[in-house]
Amino acid sequence: MDSQNKILIKGGKVVNGDCSFLSDVYIEDGVVKDIGVNLKPAKPEGVRVIDASGKLVIPGGIDTHTHLQFPFMGSQSIDDFYQGTKAAVAGGTTMIIDFAIPKKGCSLIEAYDTWRSWADAKVCCDYTLHVGVTWWSDKVKEEMGVLAKEKGVNSFKMFMAYKDLYMIHDTELYASFSRCKELGAIAMVHAENGDLIAEGAKKMLSMGITGPEGHEMCRPEEVEAEATQRAITIASLVSCPLFVVHVMSKSSAKAIANARKEGKVVFGEPIAASLSIDGTHYWHKDWSHAAAHVMGPPLRPDPSTPEHLMRLLANGDLSVTGTDNCTFSTCQKAIGKDDFTKIPNGLNGVEDRMSVIWEKGVHSGIMDENRFVAVTSTVAAKIFNLYPRKGRIAIGSDADIVIWDPEATRTISAKTHHQAVNINVFEGMICHGVPLVTISRGKVVFEKGVLHAVAGHGKYIPRQPFSDYVYKRIHQRDQVCQPVAVQREPYKGEVISIS
Ligand SMILES: [Zn+2]
Repeated sequence: MDSQNKILIKGGKVVNGDCSFLSDVYIEDGVVKDIGVNLKPAKPEGVRVIDASGKLVIPGGIDTHTHLQFPFMGSQSIDDFYQGTKAAVAGGTTMIIDFAIPKKGCSLIEAYDTWRSWADAKVCCDYTLHVGVTWWSDKVKEEMGVLAKEKGVNSFKMFMAYKDLYMIHDTELYASFSRCKELGAIAMVHAENGDLIAEGAKKMLSMGITGPEGHEMCRPEEVEAEATQRAITIASLVSCPLFVVHVMSKSSAKAIANARKEGKVVFGEPIAASLSIDGTHYWHKDWSHAAAHVMGPPLRPDPSTPEHLMRLLANGDLSVTGTDNCTFSTCQKAIGKDDFTKIPNGLNGVEDRMSVIWEKGVHSGIMDENRFVAVTSTVAAKIFNLYPRKGRIAIGSDADIVIWDPEATRTISAKTHHQAVNINVFEGMICHGVPLVTISRGKVVFEKGVLHAVAGHGKYIPRQPFSDYVYKRIHQRDQVCQPVAVQREPYKGEVISIS
């Protein structure tokens, strides 16, 4: 009998997004079969017992934003679907959502198939895909329908930046958001004003600023805030739910928080990096150190930004956390050694997100363990319609579970991480909150620092459209809040004639 097929986690504290309770958890065939105090399986033979006393038993993390083996800016991100998901489970994340991104003029379905062909054989945990809308046509519109109805894609990402590469304009945003609404999908945006970035980059280079500091200065935070506000406005006018990826600045977060106060269906995703480190690194004297932090939108030089974003995440103004894990080693970043616009954009996070958020969010007293589970797992599962299969420890849910030690510490370092990239933007950070055991689909894939991850163990998880968490309000509003014409007597007076 496969001893890994039946697991009894004894004596831990189960922490869900809404409550915590002392309980055993029994797992069989990849799902949670029973939850209760002093559980005794009917047939104890072949059951592996794991003692979790004094520890937390939490739903595995869901990273809403990764780019594994992504061909981008003349290079390809170095952590592939094997290395990236292996690192994920070592850090307590059991599901990632990556992005299939077609080039302009190319088929969305082909991009989806390409990413599936890369990922399926390699993933060590479950995954699913957002799909990019990088241009607009009737064909794109039709393919979005096929993806939503037949391929399990309920989220599409539009870029307001990366001019000439991925950027689309307001009319196309309007059209793509409208299509998302029809399909019951979530519109996601990379919110930065790509035209202003292009102008800003020219200006910096003309001033002789070629290093990574130019990357931040050519796209200051108002460029992010403006695009965030514009995306919110367009989404609101078509009554489409909006998900703003990688919230990096106070002012962008403020636009999202204000929209939510107005009742708009908008979600903000800060990332592990924006919640813990700042943009002063771009001014570091060592070029490779500075370049390692280059991503778009950039980290902000205001050092109070990370804690501010963490507070908004704690109080619900921001909703979920990803990483934008898109790793390039120093020799890849060096494509842009003489011109910051050529530095491949991206940094790490898929392995460290859970510990970083525990340290900066929970250990610091900003949020509690339940909000931690909500922002690292549960809310993502709800938005993207994976709940309660994912994002909750409940009978019938997938056995994606982490035994978490809230007191233990670890020091993050590129020397010890499980990623392929040679540098770690969290280098030297000491984090409370350490995953002791990671269980994916009912199998122990990481235990006491040792990986047992197997390529191809994870599965693609298709998602249904019209997630309740997102669309219930929208459906009701569509029924009761439609504009109505005023009933009047027809005007019968004089009308001037126009020659
Ligand atoms: Zn991204």
